Amino acid sequence: MKPLSTVQAIRPADADDRPHEECGVVGFSGVPNAAEFAFLGLYSLQHRGQEAAGIVAVDDDGTARVHKDLGLVSDVFGPEAIQRLVGSTALGHVRYSTAGGGGARNAQPIVATYADGDLAVSHNGNLTNAIDLRRRLVEDGAIFQSTNDSEVIVHLMARSRHETIDHKVDDALSHLEGSFSIVFSVADTLYAARDSRGFRPLVLGRLGDGAVVASETCALDIVGADYVRDVEPGEVLKIRDGVVQNLRPLEPADRHAPCVFELVYFARPDSRLWGVSVDRARRRFGRQLAREHPVEAECVIPVPDSANSSALGYAEESGIPYELGLLRNHYVGRTFIKPSQADRDFGARMKYNPVREVVDGKRIIVVDDSLVRGTTSRSLAKFFRNAGAKEVHMRIASPPVQHPCFYGIDMPSREELIGSSRDVQQIREELGLDSLGYLSLDGMLDAVSEAGPFCDACFSGDYPAPLVDVDKGFAPGNRGPIC
Ligand code: 5GP
Ligand code: MG
Repeated sequence: MKPLSTVQAIRPADADDRPHEECGVVGFSGVPNAAEFAFLGLYSLQHRGQEAAGIVAVDDDGTARVHKDLGLVSDVFGPEAIQRLVGSTALGHVRYSTAGGGGARNAQPIVATYADGDLAVSHNGNLTNAIDLRRRLVEDGAIFQSTNDSEVIVHLMARSRHETIDHKVDDALSHLEGSFSIVFSVADTLYAARDSRGFRPLVLGRLGDGAVVASETCALDIVGADYVRDVEPGEVLKIRDGVVQNLRPLEPADRHAPCVFELVYFARPDSRLWGVSVDRARRRFGRQLAREHPVEAECVIPVPDSANSSALGYAEESGIPYELGLLRNHYVGRTFIKPSQADRDFGARMKYNPVREVVDGKRIIVVDDSLVRGTTSRSLAKFFRNAGAKEVHMRIASPPVQHPCFYGIDMPSREELIGSSRDVQQIREELGLDSLGYLSLDGMLDAVSEAGPFCDACFSGDYPAPLVDVDKGFAPGNRGPIC
């Protein structure tokens, strides 16, 4: 068997080994120079993860080559790196930047060589039984290279007693609980699957004679691929030379539960998710928000960019002019020197600045997509008042986030969620606002009812998939990311 060639960064000593992932994935099969396309696909999915990026390409002999590192897609990949990634099969991954970082050791795709050849895995989601599975695998002699929950998939494949690779895939996937939209390769065969509740998105596209899978449709657009359909919850696809074949689906769940927070915040507005345009969904959230929480004011201002569409909806419905009264610096890097620990507004000030000419002397409605810790809104209220705003009315295009996510969205611990322990009036006071209005849960769900039912656990506390590690006491129940 040919050796696996790898180019990997050394893990920094202070890396926070969070297994938790918020990510974007792509896969290409039957596409000459597939790595170039994987690069473009990842480039368009950059919003799903800014901490690390990686691509694995597989050549005709089934040899996998990987390049992955910490950083943005455009920093990690230069022309030379892409050229070395030979083959017409490729898969890629971008990983989200969490507070403490995750370290290069946890960057994906994960690669390994086992009995059937080179194996590579790109996973978006969070396995809720990863610690349980890992304990059992370690007891059985497995040696893990990362703290990544996705690595259990590699070991489950390698240890499966089944004869064929397809059966091993079925066997490995059937052990997983929680959320996964996953793309992996065994030699030059690509597999793609979604968990049976369908928490995270995954779409299938066509590119010439080749096939593409990606987290969002914007990744199809950038390479000029045609959207074919969504990969269904529980569906397992096998793709060779661009030919897509269905394997046995996973055990069906009691219900589908696509993540509504993808529509609220995470996905790009030019993507379509679960048959809905993200832009249209956000506009409807904004319209509904205007009906639920009207207020007299001179202008509606979005907190860019994630609230642009919902603020437009609010402005359309209320008839109050939409104004670009807040500027966002798009070049804020991850490394900067904080002048003083006591300056709590520093992060927001690096990122946002109000336009005095728009807000001076006005009653303004500021629309954001969500309130998590409340840090952004607290700072923004001050900035707007300093710029002369007479009244600051905050409108949030989703309900209060009250519960941590265990299925792949990075949320802080329950105590840090401003909505978990305070009512709306208390939050309004704490943030220094003239008024505060959240979109109701029913209002949000009704606005996108054609794509539901959803997972709305972060708003409702209703968790659709078992929290195995939490229930067994392996992971703290009050945290989002399982540490
Ligand atoms: P807060 O400042 O209240 O903690 O967070 C709310 C802001 O963060 C909103 O502007 C929203 O767009 C953004 N936001 C919501 N969810 C996430 C997330 O998972 N990660 C990051 N980086 N920002 C988020
Ligand atoms: Mg935002």
